[in-house]
Amino acid sequence: MNLNLVTDRPTFVTHLECSISGGLYDADTLQGLSRAGRPLLVRYDLDAVKANLSRETLEARPSDLWRWRELLPVRGTENIVSLGEIETPLIPIARSGGANVLVKDEGRLPTGSFKARGLVMAVAMAKELGVTRIAMPTNGNAGAALAAYASRCGIETIVFCPEDTPEVNVREIAMQGARVWRVNGLIDDCGAIVAKGAAEGRWFDFSTLKEPYRIEGKKTMGLELAAQLGWRLPDAIFYPTGGGTGLIGMWKAFDELEKLGWVGPERPRMYAVQASGCAPIVRAFEAGEEHAERWEGAHTVAAGIRVPRAVGDFLILRAVRESGGKALSVDDPAILQAVEDCAKQDGLLLCPEGGATLAAYREALRTGEVDGDEQVVLFNCATGLKYPMPEAPHTLDRHATIDFDAL
Ligand SMILES: *Cc1c(COP(=O)(O)O)cnc(C)c1O
Repeated sequence: MNLNLVTDRPTFVTHLECSISGGLYDADTLQGLSRAGRPLLVRYDLDAVKANLSRETLEARPSDLWRWRELLPVRGTENIVSLGEIETPLIPIARSGGANVLVKDEGRLPTGSFKARGLVMAVAMAKELGVTRIAMPTNGNAGAALAAYASRCGIETIVFCPEDTPEVNVREIAMQGARVWRVNGLIDDCGAIVAKGAAEGRWFDFSTLKEPYRIEGKKTMGLELAAQLGWRLPDAIFYPTGGGTGLIGMWKAFDELEKLGWVGPERPRMYAVQASGCAPIVRAFEAGEEHAERWEGAHTVAAGIRVPRAVGDFLILRAVRESGGKALSVDDPAILQAVEDCAKQDGLLLCPEGGATLAAYREALRTGEVDGDEQVVLFNCATGLKYPMPEAPHTLDRHATIDFDAL
């Protein structure tokens, strides 16, 4: 058990706030979306956090996710169900990316993806608020993280995924104790089933951004980045964007850090990366819209960002625009090429969604959108080991004569 969980620490949550109307909601009762049907954001008494926590105190703690406890919503330590949420490393990829490119490798988290950050928080809050049964639509990784944390604390889970979800994801979800159903549709079709069951009172709806706490878990990516870079933020961040939880969360984290006086007003340019076969945010960005329409016929090898419609669309678009960044799309061949180059040249096996960020970075470099001497962080959101790889078909007969020159 990591040391940050040994001591109870005070919590500073004041209330929840509707992300569109600013309306206030009680933080100590179970909440889904706001009355306006939009995500609720957790608000803290940041002046009190500032008075209680210094950067030096924080830095003296072990580096795991729970070092940020004062900026997180869980009140009772006993509700935290941890599988070891480590700080993920920043890995330079000088050859496939460039001299100033760092990959934040989220594949090292429990269940092999950054969904662990969001779900460890959401499950702790569900436990704290007395939830006993949860349902969720997923493209794979969120379901796996939910299953792991919920099973660990005895919460029942029912998970719905598109029928072509990678086999390993469906099986890991089942193996970790959820009841998992393959549905002949996309993730938002699965979401409709979850919503219907929730309306009938069968379970609590854990869809992306439909409960307030996954953002708080994902926010720790932004907190960590600042600490890892010596309380400076990079020039640009490339984030593979499905529901956008991480991008929205990091943007929130930067504001909170500034209010604590730990970083200045400078912000990285945020690049929301999507696949050209499913790019609703890119389309809305380019059209100057505030909301994104559903993307019909969504397809891409990067299953984690195959999200035709995002309930937090306006929050993603707002953060990208305020940051001076852009929403960018890349096609599947460029994604697969980036994965291969990074593995073969830098020895780092990305997931396809991570590959998408490298492909987008390369394109941005080519068009002059970013400069080679700017510091850039790419997110590799899951371990590359969960995804299909090209065949390695060669065999060797040890009884025959071996042609050593051909090896
Ligand atoms: C969920 C997921 C994403 C998208 O993350 P959001 O924060 O929901 O946009 C990207 N890649 C992988 C591997 C994922 O599992």
